[in-house]
Amino acid sequence: REFHEAGLHPVMLDNVKLCQYKTPTPIQCYCIPAVLTGHDVVAIAQTGSGKTAAFLLPILSKLMGKARQLAAPRPNPSRYNPLTDRVRAEPLVLVVCPTRELACQIFDEARRLCYRTMLRPCVIYGGAPSRNQREQLEMGCDVLIATPGRLMDFMQNMNLLSFARLKFTVLDEADELLSSGWEEAMEKLFGGSDTNTDADHTYLMFSATFPKEARRLARQYMDQDYVRIK
Ligand code: AMP
Repeated sequence: REFHEAGLHPVMLDNVKLCQYKTPTPIQCYCIPAVLTGHDVVAIAQTGSGKTAAFLLPILSKLMGKARQLAAPRPNPSRYNPLTDRVRAEPLVLVVCPTRELACQIFDEARRLCYRTMLRPCVIYGGAPSRNQREQLEMGCDVLIATPGRLMDFMQNMNLLSFARLKFTVLDEADELLSSGWEEAMEKLFGGSDTNTDADHTYLMFSATFPKEARRLARQYMDQDYVRIK
């Protein structure tokens, strides 16, 4: 199979070329059509399988059609005063992953795949001062890539985020996330009162294994006809 047969937006196909990806990896072959047709996905996949592009390509492709209407309002940089203009970021896509390294890798790929779209990716993670990350968010954020601790901090303590417009939630390395004490936080995120949980909200889970905590989240929040990919 080829990328141009997958039904991706032309801008995404251009970005795939710029990334020099010639043919889709197996996980991409299965995941791209599933997401494009609106399905939730649970994929058992390792790092190195091309899983990042497997979820980013179809998600960005779906958003591209509506990017102009959907893209978060951007403050005018010349008039923007960070002391008085407090805006909560309203991402359309949230990717949660367990480590800073993984978050930065996903962000790098998101930056390349968002090239020439109206969509702006941001990354937030712990172990670094939050100021620069906060300023990046305030410039507008459509695709938020986050580690769970900093995400909860920005959400609950600093009130910097709104998930009212959220259309896609991705848990990457879900087994790691859920086994390292973030199960309750992920649950709040999935079912939160501030989260858009409309039927059109797509959930994706990527994991090396599929432990019972992950199965429970899938049972509780995902469409029960979710696509399973191994
Ligand atoms: P991931 O599994 O998402 O961590 O991706 C592993 C590496 O494969 C990353 O450096 C990607 O840039 C690269 N990659 C992703 N998709 C493809 C593809 N279709 N062809 C070649 N390389 C790819």
